[in-house]
Amino acid sequence: MAIIQNPLDILDKYFGYSAFREGQQRVIDQVLQGDDSLCVMPTGGGKSVCYQVPALAMEGTVLVISPLISLMKDQVDALHQLGIPAAYINSTLSTEEYFGTMDNALEGKYKLLYVAPERLDSESFLNQLQKMTIPLIAIDEAHCISQWGHDFRPSYRNIHRIFDYLNSRPIVLALTATATPEVQDDICQQLHIPPVSRVVTGFERSNLVFSVVKGQNRDQFVKEYVQKNKNESGIIYAATRKAVEQVYLLLEKSGIQAAKYHAGLSIDERQQQQDRFIMEDARVMVATNAFGMGIDKSNIRYVIHYQMPKNMESYYQEAGRAGRDGLDSDCYLLFSSQDVLTQRFLIEQSPDPSRVSNEIKKMQVMVDYCHTEGCLQKHIIKYFGEEDVEDCGRCGNCTDTREQFDVTVDTQKVLSCVIRMGQRFGKTMVAQVLTGSRNKKLKELNFDELSTYGLMKGRNAKDVADFIEFLISKNYLQVESGPYPTIFVSEDGKDVLLGKVKVWRKGEMVTTVIAKDDPLFNELRAMRLKLAQEAGVPPFVIFSDKTLRDMVAKMPATNEELLTVQGVGETKLERYGEVFLEIIDSFSTQQA
Ligand code: ADP
Repeated sequence: MAIIQNPLDILDKYFGYSAFREGQQRVIDQVLQGDDSLCVMPTGGGKSVCYQVPALAMEGTVLVISPLISLMKDQVDALHQLGIPAAYINSTLSTEEYFGTMDNALEGKYKLLYVAPERLDSESFLNQLQKMTIPLIAIDEAHCISQWGHDFRPSYRNIHRIFDYLNSRPIVLALTATATPEVQDDICQQLHIPPVSRVVTGFERSNLVFSVVKGQNRDQFVKEYVQKNKNESGIIYAATRKAVEQVYLLLEKSGIQAAKYHAGLSIDERQQQQDRFIMEDARVMVATNAFGMGIDKSNIRYVIHYQMPKNMESYYQEAGRAGRDGLDSDCYLLFSSQDVLTQRFLIEQSPDPSRVSNEIKKMQVMVDYCHTEGCLQKHIIKYFGEEDVEDCGRCGNCTDTREQFDVTVDTQKVLSCVIRMGQRFGKTMVAQVLTGSRNKKLKELNFDELSTYGLMKGRNAKDVADFIEFLISKNYLQVESGPYPTIFVSEDGKDVLLGKVKVWRKGEMVTTVIAKDDPLFNELRAMRLKLAQEAGVPPFVIFSDKTLRDMVAKMPATNEELLTVQGVGETKLERYGEVFLEIIDSFSTQQA
C-alpha cells in the first residue's frame, strides 16, 4: 500500500471527510512528530481517526490495544469497508485463525492490528511482536489503566512490558472519553506522557437534546415515542431485569419488535439479541446497564432512560451512545420518585459496603439533575469539571414553552387526603381513595368513610398517581426513605394547605419526531440494509446515516459529486457508488 504523507489527503481519500474535527488535527500532528500523547474526547468525537490516519501515513503496523472484544470486530469490518487492511487478535479466534492472522501480521500485511490487553500477558505473543515494525501503539479506553477510573483492568498495567520486547520504542497514543483530571494524571504518569501532550476537547455533545420527564405516565410516553420514531434505532434503559421485561412486553403488545438484554439471559441469547439490534432486525433495544459497552452503532437516534440511573457518569455514558454520527438525537430521562428507592436498594446490595455512602452521594447528584430547572447539558458538563459553560439552547429545559395551569385546589385535595390517611401509605393507595375505588383493602381500613374519599371521582387513578408524582417532584409531598415508599406532607405542602402559596403545573411533555421522514432517505436506507445483510456487516459500517442524509442534500449525479459527500472515500465509491447513484437518479427522474 502506498504511503500518503498528508493527513488531510488520507482523511479525504479513505474516509471521505473534508476536514478534521476539533482536536483531531493536533493529536495527529503530535503523533506524526513522534510525541507521546493523551487524547480525551467525548464519545463520537472521532478518536479512532486519530490513530487510523497516522497508521496510513507510517511504515509498519499500528498496534491498537482495546478491551472491548465486540468492538474489535466492528472496527475491523469498518476498516475493510474503507479498503484498509486490518485484523484483530482476541479470545474469539480459533487456533487456526490466530496463526493465520499472526502469519499475515509478521509479513506486514496489516496497517492496524487490534489486540486485547490480556494478550500482553503472553510471553510468546510479545516475542512475535519483536519481529514486526510497530511505529505506534494506540491504547483505547485508556482510563482502564487507572485504578481511579471506573473500569480498571489489571492487564492494562502490563502495557509497558511491550517496550522491553521491541527493538525500537513506538510512539504511544492513549485515548479515552471518560477521564476526570485525576485519572488523566494517572494515565500520563504510568505511560510517561508529558503533561503538555494532553489534548482534551470539551465534553459537550452538541447534537444531543437532553430532557427530563416527570410526573407523567412513562409507559404511555415510551409507547408513543417509539411508535412515532419506529424507523429509527434507539435504546431504552431500565434499572432492573423485571422492568426490562415489562417494557419489552409493553412494546410487543403495541406491535413493536424490540430486542432485550439483561444479565438474566444466557450468554448466547444476549449475543443473539445484541446482533438483532446491531444488524437492524430490531430497531429498539430494551436493556439494563449490562448492555452497551463496546457498542459502536453510530445511528442510535434516541436513548430513553425509563428510570433514573445510578449516577451521572453512568448516565452520560449510556445516553452518550446516541448520535455518534453527529446527527440530532434525543436523550430522555423519565423520572419517578420511586426510582430513588430502587437505586438506593441496588446500591445497598453492593458487595463492597465501604463504597455505599459515596455511591449514595453520587446518586443524590443524579436526583439533583432530574430536578434542575436550568440547562441540562450545562448541568452535566459542569459536573465533569468544565467551567464557563453557556446554556445549550436545545435541551428540554432551555426550550420549555409549555403553558402553566393553576392546580392549587387539586393539590389541596391530595394533601388533605394524605393527612387523613395517617401519612402511612404510598401514592397508589392515596390515588385509589381520591378516585373512590371499591378496592376491598380500602373498605377494611374504613377509608371509604373519609371526607376525601371519591373527591376526585371520575378521574383515572393512574393520572392521579402521576399528579402525586408531580407533587413529590415539587417537594410538596415527600417519600419516606424506609422499606416502603409511603408519602407525607412536607413543610412546603403545609403552606399550600394553609392557602399561603399557589401551585402551578405545566402541560405534559409531548413526544416528538427526531428525524424528518424523507422518501429518498428511506430508499437509500433500505438499500444499505440489503447490502449489509449480503455482506454480513452492520448497516452503519456501509454508510452512516449522516452520509445518507448528505446524499439527500447534495443529490450527486456523478462519481466526482458523490465523492464530495461526507463519508464517501475511494473504496466505498468503487464498491457502492453505482447502486446509490442509480437510486438517486431514478428518484430525481420521478420527481421531475
Ligand atoms: P469515538 O471513538 O471518539 O467515539 P469515532 O471514532 O467512532 O468516535 O467517530 C464517530 C463518528 O464520527 C464516526 O462515524 C466517524 O466516521 C465520524 N468522524 C470522525 N472524524 C470525522 C471528521 N473529521 N469529519 C466527519 N466525521 C468524522
